[in-house]
Amino acid sequence: KCVPEAFDIEEEIIKTMNDYDKDVSLKKIDLIIGVYRSEDGDLYLLPVVKKAQQMVLEETLNHNYLSIRGIDEFTKAACTLILGDIEKQWNDETIFGFQCIGGAGALKIGADFLHQFMECTTVYFSDPTWVNHEPTFKSSGFKNIRKYRYFKKESKSLDIEGIWEDLSNAPENSVVILQVCGHNPTCVDPTKEQWKKIAKIIKEQKLIPFFDIAYQGFASGDLIEDAWVIRYFFQEGIDFICAQSFSKIFTMYNERVGNLMFSMKPSSEIDVIKSNVSKIVRCMYSNPPNHGTKTILKILTNSELYNEWSNSFTIMVSRIKTIRIDFRKALEDLGAPGKWNYITDHGGMFILLNFTSNQLEYFQQFYHIYVSPPGRLNVTGLNTNNIDYIAKAVTETLKK
Ligand code: PLP
Repeated sequence: KCVPEAFDIEEEIIKTMNDYDKDVSLKKIDLIIGVYRSEDGDLYLLPVVKKAQQMVLEETLNHNYLSIRGIDEFTKAACTLILGDIEKQWNDETIFGFQCIGGAGALKIGADFLHQFMECTTVYFSDPTWVNHEPTFKSSGFKNIRKYRYFKKESKSLDIEGIWEDLSNAPENSVVILQVCGHNPTCVDPTKEQWKKIAKIIKEQKLIPFFDIAYQGFASGDLIEDAWVIRYFFQEGIDFICAQSFSKIFTMYNERVGNLMFSMKPSSEIDVIKSNVSKIVRCMYSNPPNHGTKTILKILTNSELYNEWSNSFTIMVSRIKTIRIDFRKALEDLGAPGKWNYITDHGGMFILLNFTSNQLEYFQQFYHIYVSPPGRLNVTGLNTNNIDYIAKAVTETLKK
């Protein structure tokens, strides 16, 4: 007998995508998933990725299995992308990584490890958070799924007092998921000063920080700036785990490239940890895939390709900024109910609208614009052709 398990939000997203596919209207607009769309509305592939892919194809001599931990050079380059020079820590093995199946895979391996081998049963996420977090940790056996306050719905701003208070009350050994930048679904991130106090609480309460970074570069346009908080924890000597996704930042969603980074003080347990994580991987998918990872490795380790890639954020982020300015103006000009400074106060891929379920239904059925429930829209799906139409639709819907 198959027992149904309701992951409501996930089901809602799938239903929205199906509804979009079935909609025959020529007006329909897809703002559902967080993928980078160019001005013409099409899915964008970074030219540097295409170039690197071709190079990898030409160099491939065989399709031998990778090791359980994947390509060592890649996991090192991935950790370096976040922390900078890690030569010493890499050599003494206080920093190491596991190549994973996207960011989602890195989170799952991390969750399994924490539950099976670190006796963790409690996990905290921001409220709201990315829809995969809760089901992932539930499926790994976490019994206590808790939320820390994060977002004030009325003012659409960070509830920093709420974060501090809720984490201060978290029991020892709780895992805390911290989205590093371009928070999904709000795009509201703590400031450096606010992060410092979060770090202090995590240290004092003996919590386990588990970073989730999927939008490095997309928040500020600067790869180093966007990873600041992880570097801060590192400098403060706080042990952490980090799930890195390469899907968004290389516009390569289906090659499933990810990294699970561990950073810790020197300890005799490091070998045990590596062996335990390896056991999880071995039983789940044995070893990770090659092509997408080799492509990204090529870009991360070739200075010409790396510069081309990092410069592309300047272009993408400046387009996101322009869309945000234009969208805010269009909403304000139309007298859309509410305050809209939120849209330009923050960067990143998402804008979260406060739709009720009736409004969401009306928005989709009447205007044929599809967003992630309960109202997260992909900013890059807006362009000069549709921005006024979307602003009008939002205004009319909020007046309903
Ligand atoms: N973390 C966050 C916050 C995300 O938004 C996503 C994807 O939407 C991921 C992780 C996982 O990314 P992927 O598994 O596609 O690499």
